[in-house]
Amino acid sequence: MQIAIIGTGYVGLVTGTCLADFGLQVTCVDQDETKISLLNSGGVPIYEPNLETLIKKNVSAGRLTFTTDLEKAIKKSKVIFIAVGTPSNDDGSADLTQIEKVAQQIATYMNEYKVIVNKSTVPIGTAAKIKEIINKYQSESVIPDPSSVIPAKAGIHPSSPSPLRGEDGVRVKSSSVIARSEATRQSQPTSKPFDFDVVSNPEFLREGSAVYDFTHPDKIVIGTTSPKALKIMQEIYRPLYLIDTPFVITNPETAELIKYACNAFLATKITFINEIANLCDKVGADVHQIAKAMGLDGRISPKFLHPGPGYGGSCFPKDTEALYHFALTCGYDFKLLKGVISANKHQRELMVEKVKHHLGDLKGKTIGILGLAFKQNTDDIRKSPAIDIIKLLLKEGARIRCFDPLAMDNTKKILPNLTYCQDEYETAQGSDTLVIATEWNQFRNLDLLRIKKLLKTPILLDLRNLYNPATLKSLGFIYEGVGRK
Ligand code: NAD
Repeated sequence: MQIAIIGTGYVGLVTGTCLADFGLQVTCVDQDETKISLLNSGGVPIYEPNLETLIKKNVSAGRLTFTTDLEKAIKKSKVIFIAVGTPSNDDGSADLTQIEKVAQQIATYMNEYKVIVNKSTVPIGTAAKIKEIINKYQSESVIPDPSSVIPAKAGIHPSSPSPLRGEDGVRVKSSSVIARSEATRQSQPTSKPFDFDVVSNPEFLREGSAVYDFTHPDKIVIGTTSPKALKIMQEIYRPLYLIDTPFVITNPETAELIKYACNAFLATKITFINEIANLCDKVGADVHQIAKAMGLDGRISPKFLHPGPGYGGSCFPKDTEALYHFALTCGYDFKLLKGVISANKHQRELMVEKVKHHLGDLKGKTIGILGLAFKQNTDDIRKSPAIDIIKLLLKEGARIRCFDPLAMDNTKKILPNLTYCQDEYETAQGSDTLVIATEWNQFRNLDLLRIKKLLKTPILLDLRNLYNPATLKSLGFIYEGVGRK
């Protein structure tokens, strides 16, 4: 089966590569020529464990290709995955511009029945919107043919309102549309509109373990009302069926809300333990033991109970904001989520307060920051707590020395004036305090006595709770974690 993936970012590249590894023929498309030529020359634009090896394997097997030629990819593919970005608008709502553009492009280049699968995280109703756009743009480029009958199938609504219909319901055309139709007629083997189905298939992979997550998911969610599309989706995911992955088959609206509900719940769980940790800081309790005890309760589970500087990354911040905003547009004030969003922002400020508590006025002070990525095993710095904290420290007049195993190049693009160091030890050298901002494994086994000698004052602020407070104190450090001292 021929598959096109539109958008070759974290989700699109991983999805395309893993589907090729399932034995499917995959074309990954992106409008970013630099990204595609890098991939075509054997490079990989992002870091994900095992991704490079898997790309190489499937490219040499002839199952995986990369292109900027969207038209060709759409025409030859039966199934088209949309994996473009859905960033936040200024008001927090999801910006669907990229999705809408892709829907128009699909409508323009469609040449037979297609299944259009949306993998991007989107507000409820987006699958319906994609359907509406494709219907509209297909009908704009359709060639008038009195003998042709528009099929009344799922996904096609010939009766839906269209600016191109006259008062009597007969389709009318502007001269520019007719001109486009002429061009289209020459490139289309058969006449439009073609039948299609839109499926919502949200993605749950985590950056840093994306390949593993895609190939070992907790669940696959498929939102469709079309038995034909469902059958095709089940065929695509057959290797996961074989390993007993649970499938949730539902309608597109429910599938879209499942994704937001999962991310909002996880963001809430992180924020809850952060709030407990902040309380621990006030009363001298140990959040580590509290999280452990909570996690032993089977109803709670130990995952996402790690206190720190607040959630970040490309998903949780934008998806919580988007869900809150979407609920408002439906007339519902999602108070819990509002509290989570605001507490998460405050968490960054509390981390800076910790630095100030130990150093006083930060003007002219040098802070060493270990970790820039929003989490370990990724080079992604989108909404990274480390970056937000650095920006707040800079505002206070501090100087920053920093190190990250993978995310320094990305950080240099937005914060060129920091001192970028070769490793943890160069970062500590001459710093007034050392702050662990990302939970990289290599930060768990630092030569602490060496670090202590290099620091101007032996203060270690461990925002990821990687170290045992008693051990650090016995080595002569002034140590503070989040929710334990
Ligand atoms: P990304 O920004 O890394 O990649 C998006 C890609 O789409 C970019 O390379 C961009 O050039 C390309 N693009 C945009 N418009 C295009 C067009 N018209 N034609 C061709 N290419 C186009 O984004 P991402 O992190 O992969 O996220 C994609 C979606 O998946 C988002 O909705 C996100 O919320 C969701 N998601 C992300 C993750 C994650 O961990 N990153 C996990 C689950 C879901």
